[in-house]
Amino acid sequence: MRCTRSGRRLYTPISARVPVLALTKTWWQRAQRTKGNTVFFARLSDHDNRLLPEEFVCWTRRFLQLPPLTRLGNALPRAHYDYDMEECLGEHNEAEDSWLDIYGTHDNSQCAPTMHGKHKGHTLLKYVVDRFARMVPGVRSQVEPHTHDILDGQYSEADCRRLFRKYPSAAHSKTVKEITDELDKVRAMPAGQDRDAAAAAANAKMEALNTNITQKDRKSVRLDVQLCHGSDELLIDATITHSLSKSARQAECKRTLERLQSGIARVKDLPARAIETARAKKQRTYGPLVYILKKQVVDGRRPKEPLVEPMAVTTFGELGPGCTLVQEWLAMRLKAHLLAQSARPDGRDPAKITGRFRADFRLAIVMVCARRAAAMQLGSGLPHASIRGLRPPAPAVDDFIAVNT
Ligand SMILES: [Zn+2]
Repeated sequence: MRCTRSGRRLYTPISARVPVLALTKTWWQRAQRTKGNTVFFARLSDHDNRLLPEEFVCWTRRFLQLPPLTRLGNALPRAHYDYDMEECLGEHNEAEDSWLDIYGTHDNSQCAPTMHGKHKGHTLLKYVVDRFARMVPGVRSQVEPHTHDILDGQYSEADCRRLFRKYPSAAHSKTVKEITDELDKVRAMPAGQDRDAAAAAANAKMEALNTNITQKDRKSVRLDVQLCHGSDELLIDATITHSLSKSARQAECKRTLERLQSGIARVKDLPARAIETARAKKQRTYGPLVYILKKQVVDGRRPKEPLVEPMAVTTFGELGPGCTLVQEWLAMRLKAHLLAQSARPDGRDPAKITGRFRADFRLAIVMVCARRAAAMQLGSGLPHASIRGLRPPAPAVDDFIAVNT
């Protein structure tokens, strides 16, 4: 086999590896149109494109719509399914929800041993953006910037924790806007007793935000990546969403049907519903922060309003509009830099270099999906006792006495 950078050259060896699956030419051609196939054509000279054997097997089996390899030893045939399915050994789901299907629906439904894979995917996604941002001259990248740093220290770290929640209600967002307006008025007041009294009243309102709320609601928001280029700023929150989750399945089917049946390009290009839902959720989360960023521009604290972009990807490697925006934000700055330089010694065309940059960026995100899916699939369904930090429930006192007498 010749090792080249051309994806087409890898077609033969890959298809030759799976002759027993009796892949038809039509099926393979259809599969080539999906994003997931880019994993098989990736340049292995790039270290980040190399998957571990277990990761490759897991992704390939999902791509070929084959059931995962048996791990738990309790696979059984099920009605309406043409493959034997294993059942989760944990006790967190019952009936239909406890079975491990080929699409990883159970893995994505809070199965505790899959949390490692879930967090791994999110972390890798953040660092993909950071890695590509560092390739563009002039772009500064910061992973997980502090919210008070993003706001140039206008609010203290403690205030930001109280104001910007990860899961804000509509009432909370409204109150935050009122409080921040009030704080601005306080700052504009001359020093004196009136100002102190107004500041104390605003602080009391902020304190009241955090009373009688659950630990989950107390969690504060933190953006994933901050990119800066001159006065331009892009704030990114990355997320990987499962489009076949129980709550999203019906809407996803409707969207898929719409895309298949419509002859209008705009409808065909619509993203998965799960991506739209994830974007809407993130926009709600960052509503209060965006409000303050806008106010900072009006008040003259910032030269330009930053772009806040939720970057959503599905577990199957479908990239949302946020991914395209981040890709283009970086690619256009790279191209502008290359065009401003004199002719390159290697004679490479700036347009081709930028095109490669775009393709590599998309591929890197799909690679993250492959790694995440494999890590989750390998952990899913394991009993709670096998997870570090969790112990099986203590035996009842009567059992303990019976055993020890
Ligand atoms: Zn489970």
